[in-house]
Amino acid sequence: MINIKNNFINKIIKNSILKNPNRKIRTRFPPEPNGYLHIGHAKSICLNFNIANRYNGTCNLRFDDTNPKKENKKYVNAIKKDIKWLGFNWYKNSKYTSNYFKKLYKYAVQLIQNNLAYIDELNAQEIKQYRGTLKEKGINSPFRNRPIKENLTLFKKMKNGIFKEGSMCLRAKINMESPYIILRDPVLYRIIFSKHHQTKNEWCIYPMYDFAHCIVDALEEITHSLCTLEFIDNRQLYIWILKKLNFTQKPPRQYEFSKLTLEHTILSKRKIQKLIDTKLVNGWNDPRLHTISGLRNKGYTKNSIKTFCQKIGITKQQNMIELSLLESCIRKDLNMSSPRRMAVINPVKLIITNIDKYHIEYLDAPNHPQIKEMGTRKILFSNEIYIEKEDFCKKPNKNYKGLVLGKKVRLKYSYVIQANKILKNKNNEISCILCTYDLNKTKKNKQIKNNYNIIHWISSKNSIKVQFHLFDVLFKSKNAEKESNIIQAYNPNSCIIKTGYVESIIKNEKIKHAYQFERIGYFLKKNKKYENTTIVFNRIVSLKNKYKKFIK
Ligand code: ATP
Ligand code: MG
Repeated sequence: MINIKNNFINKIIKNSILKNPNRKIRTRFPPEPNGYLHIGHAKSICLNFNIANRYNGTCNLRFDDTNPKKENKKYVNAIKKDIKWLGFNWYKNSKYTSNYFKKLYKYAVQLIQNNLAYIDELNAQEIKQYRGTLKEKGINSPFRNRPIKENLTLFKKMKNGIFKEGSMCLRAKINMESPYIILRDPVLYRIIFSKHHQTKNEWCIYPMYDFAHCIVDALEEITHSLCTLEFIDNRQLYIWILKKLNFTQKPPRQYEFSKLTLEHTILSKRKIQKLIDTKLVNGWNDPRLHTISGLRNKGYTKNSIKTFCQKIGITKQQNMIELSLLESCIRKDLNMSSPRRMAVINPVKLIITNIDKYHIEYLDAPNHPQIKEMGTRKILFSNEIYIEKEDFCKKPNKNYKGLVLGKKVRLKYSYVIQANKILKNKNNEISCILCTYDLNKTKKNKQIKNNYNIIHWISSKNSIKVQFHLFDVLFKSKNAEKESNIIQAYNPNSCIIKTGYVESIIKNEKIKHAYQFERIGYFLKKNKKYENTTIVFNRIVSLKNKYKKFIK
């Protein structure tokens, strides 16, 4: 298990256990099944499940399914799959707020009976107007003082489907002048005529999240109800509801922490749905999204996501996390386990003119620079090879490290070559670079100075054609979540597809997870048909930021 840092919530729990060693710690992760999980949810998942694991407690998975209009069984399944993939086990069966609909109804009736809730007939817009603002007090609804008996009858009728959606709702009778806007008679129940994925057509009234959440936390005897900072004021409402319903014996205590926001991406499910609807991304598991399934599809490992969550920690400070932190976690995780291979993603042909065209030679290349046990492989050297277009330049600047006419570079694990001439096609593009190689200057010859720049390459006789999917950020702006028009802010170059070559050994090779293509980055092999190729490589992450130069 990954060590969890001593964040402020851990400290609180530790102290409570010191005081009461027999205390059973119970947490929960409560997703709304209205979308797939993202890396922000992973932060909350790691927190809740790690606490349960660390203190020998339990963590419930509870679907907060109070809005059938937006929810769907497919989201329930996707959420379960992602949590399992991250390696966490929830306590017993997964739970649903809808399991408690009967009880919740009774609690609502109890509030009405105690003159603490009433049926309102204002519409949504009017409720909003009457509520006031931070500066202006709210105004009582004209329906606020209905007799209890009438409220009970109307609520029953609401339940029996007599009234239209939006025509009535149940509101708590708290205080329209409270400084906490959430306490200005919040809505507790509304009418929705939509089939529910769990309860089907049994109900046409549904509790609001705020009403259900605190009661179900109490019923499940959750000790630490952990949520994000935007619920800080809602805590006042939870305390009110639980007190009025006599949940006085150790009610759950809510603690708030900051939401994860990540540079160059959006996490809000509503906005992700918009990108999907406008076909700017291909579904919830698009590798450019920071959904758990998107990251998995791209090639991220569960450990890299967990390490990231550990590194960002749990605080009350709201700050944007740099994407480079997430990238450094996956690089670190893949570095030791990924075999090295050569690939050319943007190829140009290079002919070595002083080699016979039938000549073939096998050279040894290590599979990992640091791990000898990973062994070596033979790479084929011949007169016709591919190099990256960007590794050749006619008019280089001072710091250029590639091949230049009249200059020498070393082909990785191989010979030193010199570029002599270029051939161009009809479009005046370079079609071939003519070189000569220096047989004496092999790496093994210690007398030879070894200070040539090194470029990667691949023999045309030892290569298979593949497709590379090179992902970039979805949004160029750092604070993408704040963009008023996400469609406009979208980066049209967020996925660039290139056809290039990899070593042919890769075709039937089974490896643990990913490859590192030398000098390019980490890649995940996907056996799928894409245009004319059957192998697609997703770039998981570049090596440092070097990759940017390959994208034109
Ligand atoms: P979104 O705003 O992305 O649609 P949400 O908060 O509506 O997310 P829920 O399904 O309600 O999504 O979230 C389940 C749990 O995950 C909640 O406890 C919530 O606080 C937590 N959570 C959601 N987003 C983040 C985030 N970005 N960082 C940390 N925790 C999060
Ligand atoms: Mg929510």
